[in-house]
Amino acid sequence: MCSIIGYLGLSQAAPIIVKGLKRMEYRGYDSVGVATFSNNQILVRKGVGKVIEVNKTVRLDELSGTVGIGHTRWATHGMVTDTNAHPHPSSSGEIAIVHNGIIENHEELKRELQQKGYTFKSQTDSEVIANLLQHHYDKTRDVKQSMIHTVADLKGDYAFVAVFEDGTLSAARLHEPLIIGIGKQGYFISSDVLGFVEHTDEVIYLDNREFVIINTVGIQIFDFDANPVQHQITKVSKEFADVYKGEYAHFTLKEISEQPTTIVNAGNNTKLELDLATDFIRHAKTLYITGSGTSYNAALVAKFLFSKYAKIKIEPIISSEAHFSPDIFEQQSILIALSQSGESADVLEAVNIAKKSGAKIISIVNIMTSSLAHLSSISIGLGCGPEIGVAATKSFTAQLAILYKIVDKICQGALGLDLAKVSEAVKKSLSDDSKIQEVAKKLKDVSDIYVLGRGIHYPIASESSLKLKELTYIHAEGLPGGELKHGPLALMDSNTYVIMLNPNDSTYSDTLTSAREIKARGAKVIGISDKPSDVYDHWIEIPQMSESMYPLVEIIPIQLLAYYAAVEKDTDPDYPRNLAKSVTVK
Ligand code: GLU
Repeated sequence: MCSIIGYLGLSQAAPIIVKGLKRMEYRGYDSVGVATFSNNQILVRKGVGKVIEVNKTVRLDELSGTVGIGHTRWATHGMVTDTNAHPHPSSSGEIAIVHNGIIENHEELKRELQQKGYTFKSQTDSEVIANLLQHHYDKTRDVKQSMIHTVADLKGDYAFVAVFEDGTLSAARLHEPLIIGIGKQGYFISSDVLGFVEHTDEVIYLDNREFVIINTVGIQIFDFDANPVQHQITKVSKEFADVYKGEYAHFTLKEISEQPTTIVNAGNNTKLELDLATDFIRHAKTLYITGSGTSYNAALVAKFLFSKYAKIKIEPIISSEAHFSPDIFEQQSILIALSQSGESADVLEAVNIAKKSGAKIISIVNIMTSSLAHLSSISIGLGCGPEIGVAATKSFTAQLAILYKIVDKICQGALGLDLAKVSEAVKKSLSDDSKIQEVAKKLKDVSDIYVLGRGIHYPIASESSLKLKELTYIHAEGLPGGELKHGPLALMDSNTYVIMLNPNDSTYSDTLTSAREIKARGAKVIGISDKPSDVYDHWIEIPQMSESMYPLVEIIPIQLLAYYAAVEKDTDPDYPRNLAKSVTVK
């Protein structure tokens, strides 16, 4: 849950590494650091804060040398301090490492290494990698042997890159992503293609339980048992180059604005897989769907769609909960796994548990080269391009669009799917956001927001509250409208704002009744609807749709509202505090 990068080539490493880290900052970012190999020694600079801030104070990019490693940290072990920031040198300083993940047996290893005389400066689990490598290097003076012995000793999930005192880079991978970039002027090793995409589109995806040694002679890849591994070089798709904000103030706004296109295009690059998956689902004995955060909210929409239109029961499972009910998956079932990155540790764990029970995995995922795609029998691509904003927006509607397509195929059109019409409606909602900006100003100083919806709108109420939490840091809760009177009504007063998802469909009059009950307690009511009402203090209009299509449309004004409220509050919508885009730790 961070980004790591290494470079070895003809150019100065530090500026390349700093640029790459800035691109990957979305993955996690409480501190940052760089180490280079220069004049036969390893130099380290690091500190707490964003890449730009830390670079300003300690000039990471001015470190000399054509070999280097870099890291943005999302702390799991040890406070967010300059000392705990990566890279971590070994106690003799001959080796330095950057690490993504968690070393589970770090305490035991640390004790053993301390007894052997190695010293530690940080509270991180990661520092043991540096001293463990050093320990094996002290015995063998050989990079390959040190790597083999080190990975044999480590328990946990990790990707790490190490720079050695002879200027060699080496990196290993176990359940955390690591990609090698082959450029004309040098080699890259990074958590994400975005780390080096401006230099090369030729890549090798390192597999789990593999490590690479990179030096001026070239690259060599081995598995953890020391066997050499041959890999094909693949070209990454051009869409990865599209990682600039362009005319937009933030990636989040850019990504929200792309939805008229991404909704229509969702799954189009994997049409055959979509057909195949539909067939599997149609004949499944039991069907489950899993995801975390936003993806779980998409799973809740799927539950509604599958039961109402496809007449198929599907059980949503919060990915991080699968571990606690491992017997939930019946034999020969199908699990649909939803994830943007395909690297979310919780989703991967749920998938592995299901596979142990003999389940087939169908993934709906944005990154087709991800671990999730590799683990699946069938993978359907969201095809919505890189999503940099930490809060999921276009990936959510792309997930929904694919689930809608599957249901529509199964119920032979009874769903009334018309994505072109949805796209037009989304465009309309985006075209005039002045009302939304006005309401966002009101939310600036509010401490509690409730979002209410019934039926198919309830999962969108959950997703809405998640967007508000992530982007504005305001406490927000999504509720099924009918539950109001069973408790939450006690919380309504003049400081509370309630957003009603209230399109003019079968839920309309019940939701309007809830709005009146709320209004009577003095709370402010924001209505998201195609029909005005005197009960709304603020009415945000959405285009009229058929009932099943509203979810794809009503989430748009909420995404914008959360975005503009974040801007009003002067928080960074692209990189909310404490969060990371790709949650690769449990
Ligand atoms: N566990 C390590 C730490 O807390 C690495 C965390 C990360 O992946 O950023 O420093």
